[in-house]
Amino acid sequence: MKELTDRIKDNGRVLGEGVLKVDEFITHQVDPELMDAMGKRLAEVFADKKITKVVTIEASGIAPAVYAAQALKVPMIFARKSKSLTMDEELLTASVYSFTKQVTSTISISRKFLSAEDNVLLVDDFLANGQAAKGLIELCQQAGANVAGIGILIEKSFQDGRQLIEDMDIPVVSLARISSLHDGKVTFIEEDA
Ligand code: 5GP
Repeated sequence: MKELTDRIKDNGRVLGEGVLKVDEFITHQVDPELMDAMGKRLAEVFADKKITKVVTIEASGIAPAVYAAQALKVPMIFARKSKSLTMDEELLTASVYSFTKQVTSTISISRKFLSAEDNVLLVDDFLANGQAAKGLIELCQQAGANVAGIGILIEKSFQDGRQLIEDMDIPVVSLARISSLHDGKVTFIEEDA
């Protein structure tokens, strides 16, 4: 998606260890116009899949997931990384190793929000090694829900995430695919999803 790749070129910053910082427009400060366009694009791609819920993981998955859910006219659910006192219902839980924080956390969603009738679109800001997506897939599986696809804003294709998800026969669509972050430079695989 050209708007996104242009913005990454203009405002993205490569940190060491293969990490891209996009806090100017996605992960901290949010550009609502770009986010709206990206949500609509993901909704368009998955329009024929009869999606009933969009599911993501807090915190930076929430913004793209809300816009995609709004465009699909379905609810958005975000998995929590820490258990809240108000979560007194039965929970779906999975362990996720965080690529950026390098800690394992238990993610959870209240069971009442997902059921075997649901056809889920997973949305996240980044796809790196696929651990966040794998945890979300596990939560959906516990509920008996079907995962119809995964919509990602930025895929780092030099990491293993896409392969992991494709091996589960789940379609992955990424709006920007990065083949390398060598020498502080962002190289894209293709300009458009
Ligand atoms: P994965 O679970 O696929 O290894 O990593 C995806 C998660 O880690 C995303 O939810 C995202 O928050 C975070 N992440 C992975 N790589 C990057 C990166 O290069 N930059 C930023 N800002 N977050 C990342």
